[in-house]
This record gives sequence, structure tokens and C-alpha cells, in this order.
Amino acid sequence: MRFVSLLALLVAAGCAHPRSALAPSQPGLSGPSSQPVLLPPRLLQPEVPRTEAQWRAVGREAATLLSQYVAINTTNPPGNELNAAEWLKAVLARDGIEAQIFEPKPGKANLYARLPGDGSARPLILLNHMDVVLASPEYWKVDPFSGAVQDGYVWGRGALDMKGEAVTQLMTLLTLKRAAVALKRDVIFLATADEEIGGGGVGASWFVEQHPELLRDAEFLINEGGTIRADASGRIEYYGVGTTEKSPFWLDVTARGTPGHGSRPTPDNPVHRLVRALNRIAGYQTPLIVTPAVERYLRDLATIETDPNRRAWRADVRAALRDTTAVRVLTGDLTYNALLRNTISITGLQGSDKTNVIPPLARAALDVRLLPGQDPQAFLADLVRVVGDTAVAIAPQGPNWPATESPTDTDLFRAIVAAARERTANAVVTTPPLAGFTDSHYFRRLGIVSYGLAPFPLDQAEARGVHGNDERVSLDDLTFGVHFVYDVVARVVAK
Ligand SMILES: [Zn+2]
Repeated sequence: MRFVSLLALLVAAGCAHPRSALAPSQPGLSGPSSQPVLLPPRLLQPEVPRTEAQWRAVGREAATLLSQYVAINTTNPPGNELNAAEWLKAVLARDGIEAQIFEPKPGKANLYARLPGDGSARPLILLNHMDVVLASPEYWKVDPFSGAVQDGYVWGRGALDMKGEAVTQLMTLLTLKRAAVALKRDVIFLATADEEIGGGGVGASWFVEQHPELLRDAEFLINEGGTIRADASGRIEYYGVGTTEKSPFWLDVTARGTPGHGSRPTPDNPVHRLVRALNRIAGYQTPLIVTPAVERYLRDLATIETDPNRRAWRADVRAALRDTTAVRVLTGDLTYNALLRNTISITGLQGSDKTNVIPPLARAALDVRLLPGQDPQAFLADLVRVVGDTAVAIAPQGPNWPATESPTDTDLFRAIVAAARERTANAVVTTPPLAGFTDSHYFRRLGIVSYGLAPFPLDQAEARGVHGNDERVSLDDLTFGVHFVYDVVARVVAK
């Protein structure tokens, strides 16, 4: 087993004076153990890298940065994104990029930096979230917050989602700045809190609400939510750009009835009532719906499908949905099923705290996800009809929004296609809709064309690290990612 320490990386990078990175003016950054964090040396020369060797140096700098970034524990809750924001601010300040930190609450932060262009085109936003989901160290091969660089990978919670992606955005900004690339648009770097808690936070939603003036004129945004699918040998199968995602429509189901002692059953026990309602909901088959985005995505996949049946079903999914075998196969795939219908998962249940007490009400939570073009109120009315019990109330848990979609007829999309084809001859560039959601909808609703752009070619095993165990990104993928994201961005921002 090869173990590459951070120091070995620095030495391998030929940095004779790693201590010169200890600029005394650096603010006291707090790391995982409240020890000051020393920023890694800058390996990138003050020019746009041209050779493979130069891009590999950029990749190594990205790896040292990511190793530090992962070690700042931003598990949400509570997030403590302020520590991450201060680190990002110091990294940017070293290259003369000034960043503002907004603190909506103690310990919570959003960071905003802007690299100026000449204003002849509207800005592009690089959006990333600083928080990560919980990691259970007992299931990991390494400490998820050590930032270990080992076996050719940077390991740790956030290595993919999305500190690794953020570092490709960060290196893009640093490269543009160091090489003094003349820009026609401003490039905005926005790092936010509270993406992983699923709404109600003080991250992107707070920023869009409180500081629309800092974003309003933007034309494009790059965020998480894309995929570059590779096979086990690393061959890229397709580039997936996130242009649309389903919208969450989370519901509470409440049944009321007569409370009492469990030893003397009441005819309108609300728990019984709730169970009957949920049974109807669990058995409800929502209709199959083909949205334009899904039709386009499946048609693109058909071009790389080798099985003749599967190819035919993907090429014409509307026809496939009239064939019972095709329906069984397509909806048997969890992802395709979620993309072809509004879905309902019963996830929460609450009756009495005491076994011998019949409660006055019983409650359940439904995780409903709606396709683009679906009206939440119409869906709610359908569900009320399915339940058919006036003693059972169904109500949204909070604010909701119709699913959003960005067009593909844009300079940014064309830049992605061009950068993909430069790497992979005749690359399939498609638009997989997301069954989940990202923060992109906040920006799409401002009229900003927002894409999920994945920087790393991942096979299925690597992709499982997202929200799973042993999340890691290879140094090769990091190098690929910084180069790819830089190429895409430079194509639309450079003069
Ligand atoms: Zn994420």
C-alpha cells in the first residue's frame, strides 16, 4: 500500500521552500484541532497551463488544497461553515482576490468573491456548498476528516460532494487570476452553507433573498448536479449536464379521532385511520409521464446502448410505455422510475408515545417529488381523492416550487460540449434530470441559466462515495477536473 503524505506531495512537487507558504499575515485559520492551518504552496505558474505536466502541477495543488478543505469538519448540522469560509478567504487573498464573508448566524457563513471582467457580457457564477453530510468513521478505511492522501486518492467526507468540485472551481478562479486572463464577464465564486439540510437554512436561499443585487445580472451558473459516467476501466461513457431536477413537495398527513385508554378501543382511533389512509397512498400508482428532458436523455442513452431491446425502448420511450414488458423493465430501475412519474415515499410515522394511550391525532410524513410541469396543488387534490377521508388532512410542510429547467441553446452549453469533445472524440453530452435537487433552482428562478457540471469521471463504485463511506477522489480525476472546468469556464469568460 502506497501512502503519500501531504509533505511527500509537496516534495514531489519540487517545492524547495514549503515554509515560505507560512505568510505571517495569514489570519489564524482553525483546522480540525484548532491548530493553525498552513496553506499549501502554489504550484501553478503565472500563465495558463499548456502542457500535461503543467496541468498535473495544478492537479497536485488542487489535491493539497482539497486535503486541507476536507479536514475542516463542516458536517451539517451544525455545519460551522464559517471555518471553511475563512480558509477559502485566505486561499483567495493570497492571490489578491478579495472575498466577503456573510454571517447570517453565529458560525454559519456564505462567501462571495468576484473577479472583474470588462462588462461586455454578463457574469458567470461558480456555486458550491461548504457543508457536508454526516460520516460514520467506523465504516471508513480512513478518518473521514483527516484529509488523507493515500493510494492515489484524496479521501474524506466532501471529497466529491462537493469540496472536490469546489476546488476545481477555486483552481479555475486562481488560474484566471494568476495568468491575468482578460475577461469579458465577471466570474463570481459563491460558497454557501446549508445545502445538505434540504431547505430552511441560511445558505443559497438566504443569499438569494438577502443579496439579490450581487447576483441579479448573472447570465450563467455552474453548480453540482452533473455526472461524467465512466466504466470500470475509466472509459468515459457520457457527459451529463444537469439542466433540470424534480422538486420536493413534502407533505404532512394528519388523522384526528377520539383519544382514550388503549384497553378500551375507540371506533375512530386516529392511528387506525392514518394507517388506512397510508395504505391507500402506498398502493397508489402515480401515472407515468414523459417529460421532454427525460425523452431527450433516454434518446441520447440509446445511442450508446448495445442491447437491442433496451436501445429501442430508450430511443422511443413513449412507445415503450405502451408495452408492458418495457414498462416493467423501465420502472424496475429505481432511477428511471423516479424520472418517469411523480413519486411518493412514506417516511415518517408518529402515533402515541405510550403503548396504552390512544392519541388524539396521528401523523405521517410523505416525501413527494414532482416532475417539471406538474402543479403541486393538482397533485395534492389527487392525493386527497385517493385517501377519501375528510378526517385525514394533507398539507405541505413548507414552501414549495415547481421544478425548474434551464435551456441548452446557450454559449455555456456549447462550451461544455466543445470541452467534452476535446477530451473524448464524439462524446455523448446529455442532460440527465435529477430525481433529487440541488440549490440550482434558487438561481434558475432568478432567470440565471444554471447547469450541474461534474468535473470528475466516476465509475459506479466511486460514485457510491457520495453520502456513503470511503468518499474519495483520485489525483488523476482531480487533474482532469481542474483542467476540464477551466476549459469550460475560459471558453465563455475569456475575451
Ligand atoms: Zn452536494
